[in-house]
Amino acid sequence: MFNKKTLIEEDIRLLKEKYPDNWEEKIKKVQKNYPVQYLIGNVDFLNTNILVNENVLIPRFETEYLVEKVLKKVEKFKNHNLKFVDICTGSGCIAISIAKNTNFLCTGIDISKEALEVAEKNKCLNKVSVTFLKQDILTKEILESYDIIVSNPPYIGYTEEVDETTRYEPQIALYAENNGLLFFEAILSKIKNKPKLIAFEIGETQGTYIQNLARIFFSTAKITIEKDLCGKDRYVFIEHE
Ligand code: GLN
Repeated sequence: MFNKKTLIEEDIRLLKEKYPDNWEEKIKKVQKNYPVQYLIGNVDFLNTNILVNENVLIPRFETEYLVEKVLKKVEKFKNHNLKFVDICTGSGCIAISIAKNTNFLCTGIDISKEALEVAEKNKCLNKVSVTFLKQDILTKEILESYDIIVSNPPYIGYTEEVDETTRYEPQIALYAENNGLLFFEAILSKIKNKPKLIAFEIGETQGTYIQNLARIFFSTAKITIEKDLCGKDRYVFIEHE
């Protein structure tokens, strides 16, 4: 049996508005843990609005906080045309919110064609310029020298316990080999330049491993682990002066 999920007033209002004839059925679906965001179809993310469907991960508060932290760290460059990439972009929420708040030349990379279709729509909806590329970061090299690299890759290990609602999300956006560390290992080993900033969203137990690994590749960088709003280790930042 599942615990019946409670909906907030605003979500009920939005479901009634979008599904005037069968909203009660939709509410039942949400009570059985189906993500309400997929039914409503969009979420607010910083000062952008992001369309979501079952082909993309639902943007998390932690990821919004990651973008806020990145924007703070690059504040002094924000009017420059720096080259920015979001690896494993999914809905495009990171790349699009960075493009909306800076003058960076933004790229988003993902392996999923279906996710990139959502990202392209989000780019138009938010009227920003981002180049989205279909690429498998695990097998392809990073040829471009990016100034700023941000990634919220899949980082959950296959044996970890997860929230019931993630069952409906694309599993390739959530899980990774090597206890969830594979993408961090691949990305760090493929960066050939010294970017001003590399920023990762990470699993709460992965900080020390990723920090030590980053020290091998970027011995002169400042490498820090930062916490999310729940006080859990959630980010690694690798910064070059
Ligand atoms: N933080 C997400 C979750 O717990 C996982 C996101 C990710 O793997 N990048 O569902």
